Parts: sequence; structure tokens; C-alpha cells
Amino acid sequence: MYEEEIRALSVKLLDEVEGVIGYSWGTLPFRARPFLCQKKEDVTHLVFNHFCGSNLARYLLSGELKEKKIAILAKACDARAITVLIREGQVKRENLVIVGIPCYGMVDRKKLEERFGPLQPQDFEWHLDSLTFKGENLSIGPFLEATCQRCLHPNPPLYDHLIGQEVTYIPRKRWNNDALTKLDMVSREERWAFFAGEFEKCIRCYACRNSCPLCYCKECFAEMQRPYWLSGAATPSENLFFHVGRSLHMAGRCVECGACERACPVDIPIALLPCKVEELIRGNFDFEAGIDPDKEPPLLTYRENDPGEFIR
Ligand code: SF4
Ligand code: SF4
Ligand code: SF4
Repeated sequence: MYEEEIRALSVKLLDEVEGVIGYSWGTLPFRARPFLCQKKEDVTHLVFNHFCGSNLARYLLSGELKEKKIAILAKACDARAITVLIREGQVKRENLVIVGIPCYGMVDRKKLEERFGPLQPQDFEWHLDSLTFKGENLSIGPFLEATCQRCLHPNPPLYDHLIGQEVTYIPRKRWNNDALTKLDMVSREERWAFFAGEFEKCIRCYACRNSCPLCYCKECFAEMQRPYWLSGAATPSENLFFHVGRSLHMAGRCVECGACERACPVDIPIALLPCKVEELIRGNFDFEAGIDPDKEPPLLTYRENDPGEFIR
């Protein structure tokens, strides 16, 4: 998808930057992985498809790349994360060439397996908004990752070059019966039981935190010795403390990319928590992280008439 354009542009960009952060195919089918392309002869490894879920903004924070001039492929949620990182002084805009990619969503391999059984790459053809399985054309929507079904911003808000055409619809308007909406409709007790069950599964591996492009504290509160907030024990109460604490640290900053959820080895739909916090911020403060770099984040400002009824 868009590969010719991406590769041709990367060849040109490599005259001015030290590398292009993009994706290449992984060793397993239906999986793409982050790839730093530094030589023109390697641009043929660059791909973009429905399996490029990793949020590449995360790699801008690596010590080695932080001070270099770098180009980066950025679907909408990556571009939003980059906007937040620039605003928070973590990366320098002048060091970046952002190649924006309008995004039709990332496919959840498990949903494909549920529907089609063991997956064989040759059985599938992939298009922007649909797939063909053994000749049958199907909408891609039911197979998207949960955060992509909820996505409100499929087009990158910030870029220097744009690949392809802007997406003209909002995915959430098609897939509005998602897990977050369903959780809103049940009682508090049922919601509590749902999360208590999920947190029991958590092994506190921190893969969710480590894959998040915006969780970059040198010392995370979960591992601090002074003050000592949490032990390393993966008990339900400490897991709850960690996840609620992390969601609050993400308030007004989470770009709803789903990287945390995708990384979880025990399939906890952990993005529900920070995404719910963003819903509250969107509704109460008319703010969305990474959309407008000039808009002050609500947790950095105070107005006497700020809404407060939702705090109970
Ligand atoms: S959250 Fe939106 S921009 Fe990000 S991968 Fe999913 S559909 Fe694309
Ligand atoms: S990735 Fe999953 S198991 Fe690991 S800490 Fe996060 S929620 Fe828990
Ligand atoms: S908390 Fe999860 S959904 Fe939000 S920005 Fe981080 S990885 Fe993305």
C-alpha cells in the first residue's frame, strides 16, 4: 500500500536526513515491524499496510536518534503523538521530516483468525478499506483493532509530505458499538467486575507502558524507590493502582493509538482506561491531544468555570 510513493520519497529524503523511520515486514506473516532505513539501497524494505500498528513516535525518543535529523512515517495517531512530544519539548520540530499517511485502520490478526481459521497470506488481498478473502470482498471494519474502530482522526494533523489521499469518513461513526460504549451502558458494579477480572490477569510486565509513545519518564512512578508507591508484586490491588495511575498521567495526552493494548501479552484491553479519560476531556474541556499544537492542554490550565460535575 503506497509503497512506491514511500520508497521514492525516502530515496530523496535520505539526502537530507540520517534515516527514515518506517516499517518493514516482520518474520511472521501479518506482522510489520519498525524499521530504520539509513541507506538508499534499503528503501525496498519499506512497507505500509494494515499491520503497521506500532506507533513510530516512540522511536524518536531513543537516545541515539533524539539529536539527529530524521524522517518518520506517521499515520494519524503517530503524527498526533509527535505533536504532543514537540509540545512537551521531547523532540525538536526542526529535526523532523514528517511523512503523513492517511489511515484506514490496523487489522487485528486475532479477529481474522476467529473468522477465517489458520491464516495463509496467499488467501488474502488487501485494499485501503476492504479485503478479499479467496475471491470474496469484505469490509475491513469488523477486523480492525478496537482503537481503530473508535478512531476519530484518521488523517495526520501535522506533516511535511502527505502520501495518498485523505480519508473522507470517521471510522467511529461506522463502528459505534464498541467496548467503550458498552462499558458506559452497564452499571458501576458490572464495570468494576469487568476491570477487576482484567487486572487479575495482568502480570505487570510494563509492555503497555514501554510501547506507549507518550510514557517517557526516566523513572516511572511504578518503579520508584522514594516515594515508594508500588511493590513489584502483580496483585489485583497494585495492578489497579498502576493502571489507574498511568491513565491519569496520560490525561489530556493520550492519542488513542492502541499501542499499549496491542503490546499486552495477556490481551487486556488496557487502552479502554486512557481512552475513557480522553472521552471525558473531549466532552468537558473541548480538547484532544495532538490535534492543535497551539491549544493549551486542560491539565496545564485553570478556569474558574471549568466543569467539575464529573468528579464524584
Ligand atoms: S487509531 Fe486511527 S490513525 Fe491510528 S492506526 Fe487506528 S485508524 Fe489509524
Ligand atoms: S502489558 Fe498487559 S500484562 Fe503487561 S503490565 Fe500492561 S496490562 Fe499488564
Ligand atoms: S496510553 Fe495507549 S492509547 Fe494512549 S497514547 Fe499511550 S499507547 Fe496510545
